Amino acid sequence: MVSPIRRALRLPALATLVAPLVAQLPGSASAQPQPVPDTIEAHLAAGKNAAGGRDNTPDFYGLVTALCVAPQRGAPPPDAPAPREDPNRKMAYMQPKQAFDDLYWMGTESVSAWLLTSNDGYILYDTANVYDAEDVLVGGMQKLGLDPAKVKYVIVSHGHRGESGGAYIFQSRYGAHIVTADWDLIEGSLYGYPTGKPKRDIVATDGMNLTLGDRTVTLYQTPGHTPGTISGIFQVHDHGKPLTVVYSGGTEFNFPNDVAHFDQYLASERRLAALAQAAGATIIINNQSEFNGAADKLRILSDRQVDERHPLDVGAEAVARYFKIEDECAQAQRLRIMAEPARGG
Ligand SMILES: [Zn+2]
Repeated sequence: MVSPIRRALRLPALATLVAPLVAQLPGSASAQPQPVPDTIEAHLAAGKNAAGGRDNTPDFYGLVTALCVAPQRGAPPPDAPAPREDPNRKMAYMQPKQAFDDLYWMGTESVSAWLLTSNDGYILYDTANVYDAEDVLVGGMQKLGLDPAKVKYVIVSHGHRGESGGAYIFQSRYGAHIVTADWDLIEGSLYGYPTGKPKRDIVATDGMNLTLGDRTVTLYQTPGHTPGTISGIFQVHDHGKPLTVVYSGGTEFNFPNDVAHFDQYLASERRLAALAQAAGATIIINNQSEFNGAADKLRILSDRQVDERHPLDVGAEAVARYFKIEDECAQAQRLRIMAEPARGG
């Protein structure tokens, strides 16, 4: 039991502790977002807290897991072995879905590819893994009643295997133009394309408007995840209502883990967050379903009632939280690297 004397001694200290907390309560005149202390722990906590979930918005737990809990590190080398063909790969295939009036999803539980339709053909956004592309993309479009030969442009957000694996099919078989800024990475890969490597085609530049019929995708260079990662902003329609989408092109930390690469990643993501906010983006999509819950949300969509919001239309505030998770957990990883002893250059 605490003696009365000690209790009395504690009181002033407690009062000084409580006073600043009271001043920060919402609604008080001095309520301000507190800056995140520049420590690994504080950045991780801020990133995790941005996942949502405490106000019926459990949007981005997968992103938090990938960036804050179990981040990857290190880039695959150019002579990385060829991808293996998983005999059980079809177990992960999911039914393709119409997401919006003019946007379709095809993928697996982890990998997403998206198809934007126009009145003059289709833009395919990312192309799945090499052994999945035929079934997931070509087969997926056929299941959706869409003709793969109408794909005019293929945007490859970056040159990793889950995004570029199927590009060759659309270039060689259907004559689609491939648009990416990661041609050097693709060309430098020795074994990454065992069924055919796409030939250098359109080089995506910053601010490029890719227009097909009545649809335009504006592309932005967002290097970091890879040297040529590109992101995009475009409109889709939900029962005729236009909504703005930001497509985040590269996410995880599987790049050379040094301060310079994290500085580049952070600059790109901060710029894309600002561009998305300025464009009024309320939807964030990407190449991996685990980051934004696309596969699950598109199954929720089939139960949607007339007055319910589209599950992928998470709102501008949630889109900002997505980028905050990337930002805070990249800062944490950057500090971690700075604290590590030198690892042989
Ligand atoms: Zn990647």
